[in-house]
Amino acid sequence: MDGAVPMGAGGAYCVAAGQSAVDDLRHAAQGAAAVIAVGTCAAFGGVPYAAPNPTGAVPVSEVIRDRPIINVSGCPPIPEVMTGVVVYYLSFGMPTLDRQGRPLTFYGNTIHDRCYRRPFYDEGRFAHTFDDEGARNGWCLYELGCKGPVTYNACATLKWNQGTSFPIQSGHGCLGCSEPDFWDKGGFYRPLPAATGHWPRGEVLGGAALGGAVVGVGAAALARSRQHAVAKSAKEASSPPPREDSHEH
Ligand code: SF4
Repeated sequence: MDGAVPMGAGGAYCVAAGQSAVDDLRHAAQGAAAVIAVGTCAAFGGVPYAAPNPTGAVPVSEVIRDRPIINVSGCPPIPEVMTGVVVYYLSFGMPTLDRQGRPLTFYGNTIHDRCYRRPFYDEGRFAHTFDDEGARNGWCLYELGCKGPVTYNACATLKWNQGTSFPIQSGHGCLGCSEPDFWDKGGFYRPLPAATGHWPRGEVLGGAALGGAVVGVGAAALARSRQHAVAKSAKEASSPPPREDSHEH
């Protein structure tokens, strides 16, 4: 199934040959062993689901509740991921899913986990505008709003167009398009708050440290040092952060 399902006005916002999309979906799912929701709209509602959601759009999982659902999110999803999920299902059955219903094989790591710019992040080297020294040198795009640290997908490894490139390699931060509600999360060019974006691993391991795990202590210390590096970098930046409305149009 591709696309969100408009439920408003009795499903009248999407009708083909007198049949609404919601009725088509229910009909198709009747004999299905499983339903693959392809794309962020089908998986999580996507752009139609964004506020104010005038058509009452919902994800497939809110319509079909008696069949296994595999979410293949992304706006659009990666072709190899779509193909891979179908082949996997036909060969081995249901894949192991994450808490968002996505196959762990393709959604088990964040973009940030596998990003080739990660060494710059770890060193506190950031681009602050799209044409500054950091941007020209290929430094981390975190301060330009990259959502890679909180976005699970395979873009950084499979890439696009037969492995040619992906948004970060083209100089633009990740929009987080494979995550729920990515359109309503406060702006593509607004940096993630440090609490959720800079040190997720450190926080997790920091919790282990409370229980006495030595590795947690080390990770928390590393996280603090990274936080200091980012704060220092931001302070030294000569240019103010780009206006959000100067990039989104
Ligand atoms: S913040 Fe974005 S650009 Fe920077 S390392 Fe993470 S994923 Fe890559």
